[in-house]
Amino acid sequence: MQARKAGETACVRDQWHLVLSAYAITTRTVKKRLGLLGLFAFGSGWAVVASTACGGAAPPPVRTPEPPRASQAKVSAGASPEPVRAAQPTAEDARRFVEQVDRDLRRLWVQRDRANWVNQTFITDDTEAIAASGEEATAAYVTEAIAKARAFDGVPGIAPDVARQLLLLKLAQVVPAPSNAAERRELAELQSAMTSLYGKGQYCPPAKSVLGAKRGSNAGPACLKLDDLSRILKTSRSYDELLEAWRGWHATAPVMKDKYARYTELGNKGAKEIGFEDMGALWRSGYDMPPQAFEADVERLWSEVKPLYDDLHCFTRAKLRTKYGEDKVPKRGPIPAHLLGNMWAQQWDGVYDLVEPYPGQGSLDVDKKLRDRKVTPVGMVKLGESFFTSLGFDALPKTFWERSMLSRPKDRDVVCHASAWDVSWNDDLRIKMCIEPTEDELITIHHELGHNYYFHSYYKLPILFQAGANDGFHEGIGDTLALSVTPQYLKGLGLLDQVPTSDKGRINVQMKMALDKVAFLPFGLVIDKWRWDVFSGKTPKSRYNQAWWELRTKFQGIAAPDARSEADFDPGAKFHVPASTPYVRYFLARIYQFQFHRALCRAAGHTGSLDTCSIFGNKQAGAKLQAMLELGQSKPWPEALATLAGETRADASAMLEYFAPLRAYLRDQTKGEQCGW
Ligand SMILES: [Zn+2]
Repeated sequence: MQARKAGETACVRDQWHLVLSAYAITTRTVKKRLGLLGLFAFGSGWAVVASTACGGAAPPPVRTPEPPRASQAKVSAGASPEPVRAAQPTAEDARRFVEQVDRDLRRLWVQRDRANWVNQTFITDDTEAIAASGEEATAAYVTEAIAKARAFDGVPGIAPDVARQLLLLKLAQVVPAPSNAAERRELAELQSAMTSLYGKGQYCPPAKSVLGAKRGSNAGPACLKLDDLSRILKTSRSYDELLEAWRGWHATAPVMKDKYARYTELGNKGAKEIGFEDMGALWRSGYDMPPQAFEADVERLWSEVKPLYDDLHCFTRAKLRTKYGEDKVPKRGPIPAHLLGNMWAQQWDGVYDLVEPYPGQGSLDVDKKLRDRKVTPVGMVKLGESFFTSLGFDALPKTFWERSMLSRPKDRDVVCHASAWDVSWNDDLRIKMCIEPTEDELITIHHELGHNYYFHSYYKLPILFQAGANDGFHEGIGDTLALSVTPQYLKGLGLLDQVPTSDKGRINVQMKMALDKVAFLPFGLVIDKWRWDVFSGKTPKSRYNQAWWELRTKFQGIAAPDARSEADFDPGAKFHVPASTPYVRYFLARIYQFQFHRALCRAAGHTGSLDTCSIFGNKQAGAKLQAMLELGQSKPWPEALATLAGETRADASAMLEYFAPLRAYLRDQTKGEQCGW
């Protein structure tokens, strides 16, 4: 499917876990804003959450966590809050509270994730409704538990692990539900509806169009799904065909626009209720530092890698101009978005053939080998698994093979976008993917298995700790392993005849990787920069599409291929927007993976350049990796990073070091060009 190089593929689990940040500012803000809600916290004994009865599927009654014991009376959670009691809760009360939250969340999240799994692998109106009610039930619970947790703010002597779980709870909803039951239900339904609209999206070319006429001659399917359209974006070199495929897919999104605006309103309301300015502020709070410091850190990293991106952009634009002509691709100015081999111009490896530095040198036609050997989807996943077992990790559990969805079913609508799951939060690992035998997909598989092995390493921890050290870590782990999928390694698998030995071959390999990893960097920023502004109100609904293209041009140096207007909703044509998956994690993952790779290569005793290192089969490197993964989210991410790398700061220098040979080539090749846009 379109999923492309994995870095951006969705990890479902991560959608529900923003990472803890144990910094004081947010805590203080939350305290202040929760002042009134905090009154809830002194309810007594068990309480039944009335709202769970509101969902269509009527999940079983849910017990809220046991708050500090105040009296023997039982109250319904929907009832008026009890007056604050004089007796102060204790650190022991706090421990009992998080233990109860742990039990409750295990039940609720498992139920919700089962419903989501079924919905995404069998999209119907009914499964959509069941998924929505699962969301709603958990949202109702978490919203109330957050209010109750307020009781423990400032309680002395709370153990660090308990304090961290309390803080994580506050960040546990990516889309925070309002406390009003009707609004909560509406929000859950909007989310489900948008995800389904995306999954069902298709373009049916009119008979007289370029694609329609083409279809007439070989009687392909009447309507084209995203993976069909993505294939055209990647393989066609006809300007008009590319344009029609691009427009066709983007025409599926406007139907989401009103829904998105309403979703923003309700999500913001939920965020405010738990003490955040808006949803964007909540999303930026998951990084063990204040949101402003996080934004500054992201800017620092971007400024470090931007010169490398600029050189790649300059070189690629010149090559595309040669192919399509100066009237289509300007000498200066942004590149039309449909010419870069990808629906979102987020990774450009689809146009490798147009930019290959030394044609034919050290060619890595792994796709052909995979096809010739008729490697099945299961065979593809086995290849990925063998990498992890070579490092000393366990084999995938038997249930993985029984329960995963590895190819597109012929008889029903599914969400093919690759994702990794632990459905029962108990080593119930699965991937959901429509695998085709290509090198891209092989790398996506490494990425998704990276999520799965992360799940596997921490599934015995308290459920609030079952997440990456931050969400960029989760996205980066699989990619780190994929960096060890070197030509040498592929040759060992029989997927490559010879390892390129010349500098020319090496530059070709680096170019292919840069089209994925370097080209992606600004896109990794744009999605959330757009959403942060939408959520804060800086970008009103009347400027949704305009703001989108302003950011895409500013950061990526690309432009819409035709005139766009506010009748369009181009952000909705990207999975993570309707699916509410925060995106800056993928930018971070791109930076982290080279930092992780450098650290693991050092652990493995590698002394050469970074691009020649493979840790395949190295148990020392495997042990280092395992030590970090086992921490899950139980420690601030700089501590987790230190476990692996001995460093506590994100560092883009490993990425620059990795691509130094290519950078020199690009600079040399673009001497006569006017770079920039
Ligand atoms: Zn992922």
